[in-house]
Amino acid sequence: MVQSFDVVIVGSGAGGAPIANRLAKAGKSVLVIDKGPLLRPNDQGARSDFRRDELYASGAEKIFKVPGLKNTGVSYYSSHIEPDINDEPHVYRDHDGDRGTIEGYTAQVVGGGTQLYGGVSLRFTPTDLALRTFAESRAGPVKEDPNGDVTREARDWPVSYAEMEPYYGEAEMLVGINGTRANQQKPFSADRYQKPLQPNPISEGARLGMIELGKRLGSNVAPYRTPLAVITEDHAPSGRTIPRDDTGLPDSEAAKTSYVNRFGDPLGLKSSTWVALLAPLETLPNFTIWPNCVVTQIVAQGNKVTEVRLIGPGGEARAVTGKLVVVACSAIETSRLLQLSAADGDFSARINVSGLLGRYFLTHCFGGARAIVPTRVDKSKALDADWATDACATDDFLHDKGLWAGPRSTTTPPTRRCRCHCSAPTAARTSTHCGRGSCTAPTSGATGLSTLWTRSLAAGCRSASWRTRCRSATTGSSCIPL
Ligand SMILES: Cc1cc2nc3c(=O)[nH]c(=O)nc-3n(C[C@H](O)[C@H](O)[C@H](O)COP(=O)(O)OP(=O)(O)OC[C@H]3O[C@@H](n4cnc5c(N)ncnc54)[C@H](O)[C@@H]3O)c2cc1C
Repeated sequence: MVQSFDVVIVGSGAGGAPIANRLAKAGKSVLVIDKGPLLRPNDQGARSDFRRDELYASGAEKIFKVPGLKNTGVSYYSSHIEPDINDEPHVYRDHDGDRGTIEGYTAQVVGGGTQLYGGVSLRFTPTDLALRTFAESRAGPVKEDPNGDVTREARDWPVSYAEMEPYYGEAEMLVGINGTRANQQKPFSADRYQKPLQPNPISEGARLGMIELGKRLGSNVAPYRTPLAVITEDHAPSGRTIPRDDTGLPDSEAAKTSYVNRFGDPLGLKSSTWVALLAPLETLPNFTIWPNCVVTQIVAQGNKVTEVRLIGPGGEARAVTGKLVVVACSAIETSRLLQLSAADGDFSARINVSGLLGRYFLTHCFGGARAIVPTRVDKSKALDADWATDACATDDFLHDKGLWAGPRSTTTPPTRRCRCHCSAPTAARTSTHCGRGSCTAPTSGATGLSTLWTRSLAAGCRSASWRTRCRSATTGSSCIPL
């Protein structure tokens, strides 16, 4: 029998779980399906299901058997929360061939990537949400944008920071995040952070290092305590409590879990979507979660989803329906499931209106610095990513340095031709009106005079100095990049 729900959510990670939380609390019948197992921390059972390193590849050695790839025949291991790449490989296309890889999967477990994440929970700055506006307001050219990508591709989000702000606050409270807001480049209407833990000597070194690096860049770096999705105080929305000392009082320093990045947290203090958003729903009669179930197809008639097909834990075929179906399987797997499902023309047109489904995948951009700490320090007493700074994210910094996010290009800027068009009356047109270079004679019926120059694209055909060279004594003129 096909079971029906108000809402069917595929994927229990950062995308799917908040929707489940809000809609189940609003009284909708919600089914969450996840292909991974449900691992509980130790306060939800006798012992934690976590092995302390969920990325550790365990089990027998396997041979990669998918034919036709560069690494076919190579041996590999997989962990208990990763898919087996013989069953469902991701294929990485490189300059020297295609290889099967586990890269691009986050984590196959209830909670998805948030079971392993470092919990760094930064808000976007207002500028992050308005890149085109920022690009257009720039005082000078972008230094490392030889192909004009920034000017051409920058977009504003359809929502502003002001519109997002209340939701950031709500999410910070609901998820359970510690940190400080002072020195952040984002306006806060209310501070929803829990108190950060005492920094330890390692993180103190990081703080001083940031300030020193800032001085070398001519910038005044004011670090703040990184917002981390780890609770340091009792957390009412999820019912989680922090360890108590011998007298029964909360002992926030004992909450230092360390090693949160890349590890499942057996204490349940790291705010994965399981402990923070889904476990609190478990007692609701209108909430259902199916772990170890792989959704294989979203079936549609015309542009309406009629069924969600899946394979259950015992390999049995199942199907469910939902008035609303949410596909939140992580960036790559969501695109894959939708593309596999969209064999039908209408459905394909509906979900891929822009033709961009599965294109322009963008992952984190990391920078780094390292230092040697002169004394022995107990790393287990620190949280990763303890300090952060927005010094390089201020509009002034970006303007002053001519910077933009993106890789530094080492290629020579290409040259590009610009047509300088003088709209002076015919009688007034001389080559001097068009600046240096020879103006082509106006053809019969032409309204203006034009000349061509070759300029480096990086210099910009639209710059004021370039237009000046094209100025007509009597009328305006324009410069058009070709
Ligand atoms: C080691 C690590 C550290 C990270 N650190 C940070 C950090 O500090 N800060 C930060 O903001 N982000 C961090 N991230 C990234 C963050 O975890 C992800 O961006 C986020 O979890 C993505 O959310 P999502 O809902 O798109 O996918 P996920 O959270 O991955 O959830 C997708 C879920 O869908 C399930 N699924 C997939 N396909 C199917 C299917 N066909 N049927 C059923 N279920 C399916 C998966 O099992 C998974 O549980 C980190 C990630 C990792 C791996």
